[in-house]
Amino acid sequence: MNSDGSNFDFIVVGGGSAGCVLANRLSQDPSNSVCLLEAGASDWTPLIHIPLGVMFLIDHKKWNWNYKTEDQENASKRQINIPRGRALGGSSSINGMVYARGNWRDYEDWANKAGCKGWSYREVLPYFKRSENNEKFTDDPLHGTGGPLNVSNIKRPNKMLQLLFESTDALQIPRRIDFNDGEQEGFGERQTTIKNGRRWSAAKAYLDPVRKRSNLTILTNAVADKVVVENGRATSIVIIHKGQTKTIKANREICISTGAIVSPALLMRSGIGDPKVLAQHGIEVKQPLAGVGKNLQDHIAASIVTQTDSIMGYGISFKAIPKLAVYGLDYIFNRAGMVASNINEATGYIKSKPGLDRPDIQIGFAPAVRARGGRKLVRGHGYSSNVSLMHPKSKGTITIRDADPMSSPVINPNFLSEGEDLEAMVKGIKVARQILGSPAFDKIRGKELRPGISAQSDEELTQYVRDNCATVYHPVRTCAMGPAKNKMSVVDPELKVKGIEGLRVVDASIMPLQIGGNTNAPTIMIAEKASDMILGKAPLPPQVLPGDK
Ligand SMILES: Cc1cc2nc3c(=O)[nH]c(=O)nc-3n(C[C@H](O)[C@H](O)[C@H](O)COP(=O)(O)OP(=O)(O)OC[C@H]3O[C@@H](n4cnc5c(N)ncnc54)[C@H](O)[C@@H]3O)c2cc1C
Repeated sequence: MNSDGSNFDFIVVGGGSAGCVLANRLSQDPSNSVCLLEAGASDWTPLIHIPLGVMFLIDHKKWNWNYKTEDQENASKRQINIPRGRALGGSSSINGMVYARGNWRDYEDWANKAGCKGWSYREVLPYFKRSENNEKFTDDPLHGTGGPLNVSNIKRPNKMLQLLFESTDALQIPRRIDFNDGEQEGFGERQTTIKNGRRWSAAKAYLDPVRKRSNLTILTNAVADKVVVENGRATSIVIIHKGQTKTIKANREICISTGAIVSPALLMRSGIGDPKVLAQHGIEVKQPLAGVGKNLQDHIAASIVTQTDSIMGYGISFKAIPKLAVYGLDYIFNRAGMVASNINEATGYIKSKPGLDRPDIQIGFAPAVRARGGRKLVRGHGYSSNVSLMHPKSKGTITIRDADPMSSPVINPNFLSEGEDLEAMVKGIKVARQILGSPAFDKIRGKELRPGISAQSDEELTQYVRDNCATVYHPVRTCAMGPAKNKMSVVDPELKVKGIEGLRVVDASIMPLQIGGNTNAPTIMIAEKASDMILGKAPLPPQVLPGDK
């Protein structure tokens, strides 16, 4: 770094799931100077670190960007909330802490269908493992121990999970012990990124242990405006820090890790994108790339919510006050129970129709009444099941509203624009209702608040999905990776922005296809793998799987 502090070997833009991994791995060699830029603040609030805090973060004004989609034509013309983390740790500081990798076939599709050499299941698995410290699967060839990202089961989950599993057993739906063994089908307890009752965000996992490195500079409240491209090379980045505009120079590379909503917008402001879009905003074209901001996909979901008189589940009510006190003490003394829980304690993956090669519906289960379209707990007791579509066909776009870095991008996921998506969602709701309607739940049965028993026909359930769907917060593909011949891809399989030297995108936006699971662990895997590429290291050897010769 220069004495004026404005010159680094590597600049990582965005301190979220991917950015924290890069900041750690790139600064491991003390001869590399690294600057991590984060638009949000440091992650000091207990709301981030105590798992139950998740319900306050879902629409928090400080820790969340609180984006909204444009009116969604096929979702009753509603604007749908798009929360994103705004602090060190990024979305991993406000997320539901579910540890999920997706299905092994998803990565085979990245390599084979999308032509992304080096990203097959056997090639990405070593990076999932390198990131992981799994407390449960300690001697398992598919899991890692000793990595920065702690993975654990909820300590003392709610008793209602037993009713769920009694029900799925009775319906002969398989039980799954490990959702991350490549296959997913069945129901079971989730694994989480929690350690000893604390959220294990990417910042906790990757930044906290290295914050004191003298070759790592972390600038918070630093909003990246644009990358400066000179003669086809990314040379520096313009930021707004403490109200002042500054330029920071990169000697080697700039890595954009601002996430699937902002990364395409940042590229566009830098003159990289669809020339027609750039022209609308008077931005000089540095590199025409039609795919920037295209292919946006997210996991859409709709809930079944039942209210009960029983206080077996988590919830807020007068009669539960003694129980809430016990939960508080259980957290203080044992780091267990409701306060140490992500609430979303169990899940299941099913196929909405026969013949699919992998599950296309995830049915989450929370022993609590959830608010409409969000993760907040509301007054009262009960249980909720969130039915979400893993491989949506609908696709949308991100574009810029104007050239102001503080303006929200224009987000149009085109939810439910493909009829197949609605059909699968309706099927998923029916299966979830069958599970929740089984005799196992008779002892606590209450009233279905949503959709409500009056909604029975496919038409009524379709309308319910249109009127109530929300996202489960997994936007991807807006700077998709792909081979040279794919003109709609933005980065190559080394995550280099096509046609520009010294610039990569490393975050959830580079996924070439949506994966059938939650996206935090895959994003961390992407950044782990990218760090080896950036440092010129050989990739970890592909994993040998049972059955491989
Ligand atoms: C509410 C919620 C719940 C979720 N639940 C789960 C879950 O349970 N399990 C799971 O696997 N996944 C979950 N996800 C998804 C997962 O957390 C994300 O896919 C993942 O964190 C994305 O990582 P990223 O690095 O791409 O982006 P992010 O982690 O979002 O990081 C982007 C960072 O860039 C910063 N930034 C933005 N603009 C600028 C700018 N102009 N200049 C500088 N910095 C900027 C942001 O503040 C942020 O810190 C959830 C997400 C949300 C929002």
